Amino acid sequence: MKKVISLICAVLVGLAAMPTLAKTVKIGMAIDDLRLERWQKDRSIFVDRAESLGAKVYVQSANGNEQTQISQIENMISRGVDVLVIIPYNGEVLSNVISEAKRDGIKVLAYDRLISNADIDFYLSFDNEKVGEMQAQAMLKAKPEGNYFLMGGAPTDNNAKLFRQGQMNVLQPKIDSGDVKIIGDQWVDSWLAENALKIMENALTANDNNIDVVVASNDATAGGAIQALEAQGLAGNVAISGQDADLAAIRRIVDGTQTMTVYKPISKLAAKAADIAVELGNSEIPSSNTTLNNGTKDVPAWLLEPITVSKVNIKQTIVADNFHTEKDIYR
Ligand code: BGC
Repeated sequence: MKKVISLICAVLVGLAAMPTLAKTVKIGMAIDDLRLERWQKDRSIFVDRAESLGAKVYVQSANGNEQTQISQIENMISRGVDVLVIIPYNGEVLSNVISEAKRDGIKVLAYDRLISNADIDFYLSFDNEKVGEMQAQAMLKAKPEGNYFLMGGAPTDNNAKLFRQGQMNVLQPKIDSGDVKIIGDQWVDSWLAENALKIMENALTANDNNIDVVVASNDATAGGAIQALEAQGLAGNVAISGQDADLAAIRRIVDGTQTMTVYKPISKLAAKAADIAVELGNSEIPSSNTTLNNGTKDVPAWLLEPITVSKVNIKQTIVADNFHTEKDIYR
């Protein structure tokens, strides 16, 4: 009997000394729109990193549809994920579905775009107001005076508002002094190039082609606008901004039809997001460098620094980071 008891004790002591096996964190990644080059990069880096940390990731793209995204998130909740990583199509309409998730004890990370009026656990992004400031600064450098056309992003995207806020921080004094005249202001549904193309065609017609600058908020929309400028023989004469360092945009910068882009090291963002998602899944508290109020609470956040890229620093930034290779850019 004594022997049996001491054997049981030995087993119990052994079990207590064993390291606890880390659980497999299940992550649902709900992406607004994988049709845009940018989000394909985010997805790949995020999934690779999360899987290397032992997590399992289910990815879905809503292709720019609000209802689809809500259904996809509901589906992830019923699959029993531990963490939701959401790149919202419309960050204003997810309060209910996030309440459902929270009732099930699921953690929520808003990725790149903030989600309003919801009990989210963390927000990870770049300094988006600074992105807008960089775009406007580059435009003023290229054309300190003239007719400026503002092309905002998707009206459903909180970031689009932050980019505009940043652009106006820089442009307002120049508008007040009369150096800059705003001759049009339109927002591009779903950030789609085809919508930007139509907006630009109409703006050119309405202004007899008298446009000096297009403050475009990202590369996809800049691409659409440049197509319209090309049709009028104006590409290269009109200064135009962008964002994302898409391969097509970098090539346009080299060719001289786009003035600049804003490079946001996606590898840093996506890898950090994977680390944070796994921490949240293990009920740890990720470190933050700021907080942002989303209407419900001060959300702990981590914001990364964006980088301005023009013809002169492509090699030191995008190529150095292996974001695109020289071979791809200069063909
Ligand atoms: C992102 C941009 C992107 C845009 C369109 C924004 O929320 O911050 O990087 O170009 O969405 O997808």
